[in-house]
Amino acid sequence: MEVRPGKLVVISGPSGVGKSTILRRLLAALPQLVPSVSATTRPPRSGERDGVDYHFIPLAEFERRRAEGEFLECCRVYGREHWYGTLASEVAPRLAAGKWVVLEIDVEGTLSILERYPDAITIFVEPAHPDQLLQRLQGRGTESAEAMARRLEVARRELLEAHRYRHRVVNDDVDTALAEIERILFAAGLPQAADTTGRSALHTNASS
Ligand code: ADP
Ligand code: 5GP
Repeated sequence: MEVRPGKLVVISGPSGVGKSTILRRLLAALPQLVPSVSATTRPPRSGERDGVDYHFIPLAEFERRRAEGEFLECCRVYGREHWYGTLASEVAPRLAAGKWVVLEIDVEGTLSILERYPDAITIFVEPAHPDQLLQRLQGRGTESAEAMARRLEVARRELLEAHRYRHRVVNDDVDTALAEIERILFAAGLPQAADTTGRSALHTNASS
């Protein structure tokens, strides 16, 4: 039987808005969705795992693989000193196998992806109020005060790019944001899981 190819889902938003939290719950709830693990030259943060959170690679290897055309898109993410990129090997085979592949990338990367995949479902996650970003970054506690200030400056610019996305979702209450994203994905044709248990991201543990 012929497999219907999957679709690309691109999620962006400023640092601290809750992208990782939302993605973790979406992926746990919807096995039809698979993440694309990006490559980066930045060092892992405490608790991050190679091959799971990112493929952590040295700059020389990143440059070689870039020259060999392994990336669908890559850039030095605005405001960061490191390179990040989406590997074609993370995306193409999974789409061909009918999976829906989720990318969590920045605005520049999204625009490159849209050139190749104009049907990608683009979702920009926004805070209800810019102050939420500072509160959440402080609560997460993974950045120094200086790094947080830099991220907030970058966030101000990123919020101006939200109009480039097909969908905008406010992450004030996380359950409401998840319900909205699920609605967007099913409206775009996300198939029900073959072994559907009726689960929803709303009913998975936020901390898992
Ligand atoms: P991002 O991946 O966008 O940088 P995270 O998912 O790491 O953001 O979230 C930043 C912090 O905010 C985390 O401590 C997370 O638990 C918290 N958080 C995420 N969504 C919400 C929400 N809707 N309400 C309150 N706190 C949230
Ligand atoms: P962090 O260092 O906090 O994990 O991520 C920093 C930024 O890099 C986030 O805005 C994230 O969306 C972006 N990013 C992560 N992976 C990629 C990628 O493969 N390509 C692009 N363009 N941006 C990425």
